[in-house]
Amino acid sequence: MSNGIPVKDVTPRGPNQQPGGQQSFYKKHEKIQPKWIEGRFQKLRDFTVVATMGVYLLTPWLTWNGDPVVRFDLPARRFDILGMTFFPEDFFYLSLLLMIAAFSLLFFTNLLGRVFCGYVCPQTVWTRFFVRIERWTEGDRNARLKLDKSPLSVNKVVRKGSKHIAWLALALLTGVTFVGYFSPIRELIPRVASFDLGTWETWWIVFFTGATYTNAGWMREQVCLYMCPYARFQSAMFDQDTLVVSYDTTRGEPRGRGKKRRDTSAEHKDLGDCVDCGLCVQVCPTGIDIRDGLQYECITCAACIDACDEVMDSVGKPRGLVRYTTEHALEGKQTHILRPRLLGYGIVLGSLATVFLTGLLMRVPVDLDVIRDRNALFQETTDGKLENVYTLKVYNKSQEAQVFRITVEAPEGIEYKGPATVALPAAGTESVPVSLQLDPNYTKPQNVDVNFTLTAVSDESITKQVESRFISLGR
Ligand code: SF4
Ligand code: SF4
Repeated sequence: MSNGIPVKDVTPRGPNQQPGGQQSFYKKHEKIQPKWIEGRFQKLRDFTVVATMGVYLLTPWLTWNGDPVVRFDLPARRFDILGMTFFPEDFFYLSLLLMIAAFSLLFFTNLLGRVFCGYVCPQTVWTRFFVRIERWTEGDRNARLKLDKSPLSVNKVVRKGSKHIAWLALALLTGVTFVGYFSPIRELIPRVASFDLGTWETWWIVFFTGATYTNAGWMREQVCLYMCPYARFQSAMFDQDTLVVSYDTTRGEPRGRGKKRRDTSAEHKDLGDCVDCGLCVQVCPTGIDIRDGLQYECITCAACIDACDEVMDSVGKPRGLVRYTTEHALEGKQTHILRPRLLGYGIVLGSLATVFLTGLLMRVPVDLDVIRDRNALFQETTDGKLENVYTLKVYNKSQEAQVFRITVEAPEGIEYKGPATVALPAAGTESVPVSLQLDPNYTKPQNVDVNFTLTAVSDESITKQVESRFISLGR
């Protein structure tokens, strides 16, 4: 129970009797073999699942003006995204992105429930592909249950073997693609084929392949039930106007099947619409019965909705006994879309997105750090001048080579000593040692502000000014 709506936990738990009279606090895992179901929501899921997988697999191959659309170049400590280059100094944007992701989760969970889990979560996406492969190789639920119980045979070995080979192939593709975000994929693929990989590339491909094969092939719903923290705190984000998958108890109960339904006696004549066929349970990937109420195991995949709609069609009843609805709607009350909590999340999300987009649009593709020499505040040159030494760290954040002019604004008597320009390749960085020297004929200030300015020779609007200090302590 939370400050949101209560979410039932109906997983059977508690001490299990073990051989020898011992007690176990853990329930023995039972493999879930969900039945495949077609329907309007499963079509929508197929679309989102294929789109998510497609974006993941294709992105490393896409280019923008000849450069990868997305590349995380860790050795060079630069990240190229949609023609923009980010360095670790741009951590501000990453922090904003993380905050936007967090508030998007709060906003959309409050509005649409666990729609992320059911439609685009990587665990859902890869599991759906793996289940499809399993269905192609071993058949649907009943055939798989039968095959699991059957003795070892050529048929069983061929079916299970081809399933695991296909699973491993998809897992390997996932692992190679992941590394393709860090290492140019057009060069990576031939190197994978010729086993000419570096240590870290090999490690990440093996790790990602293994993790994908294990999570999507073997663990499946257990990742959602036992590993994903989101399932545990989702109820705190729910309220009675949140869209959830629900069974309409008023309409469905008392449930009854075949014999009871044909019985016209007083005891059975007022049965509800649920024919107790159990199809909603058979299709559930997490193995729960939605008729027990909202449960944290429900990933909102809507398979039970499509299954029940099919049953309702076949018995001539209106669809929607299991449906997307809200607690308020089920109680016959009005659902409020605009509510204080959702508006609060929306305002914060909108503000963060505005700051992020404005920052990106106003971003100048050059950056400059001025680092004073840490060893000495100042030093005296052989010709008696007071000198402050600096390192200018110059970042070219554009996708083109640039020449930058270096200028300094300083009080009279302070002279800049260093290169007039610095040339950088596209998305390159350079450390430039420079100094400022104070002529002994001028008054020696304690310390004064000085401004270093970088300006692109080809475009005066690409400019960055950074303030620093010239220190002499009046000597
Ligand atoms: S209860 Fe329904 S919506 Fe929830 S996980 Fe099971 S099949 Fe999917
Ligand atoms: S699929 Fe519908 S009719 Fe069948 S048991 Fe589930 S809720 Fe009842």
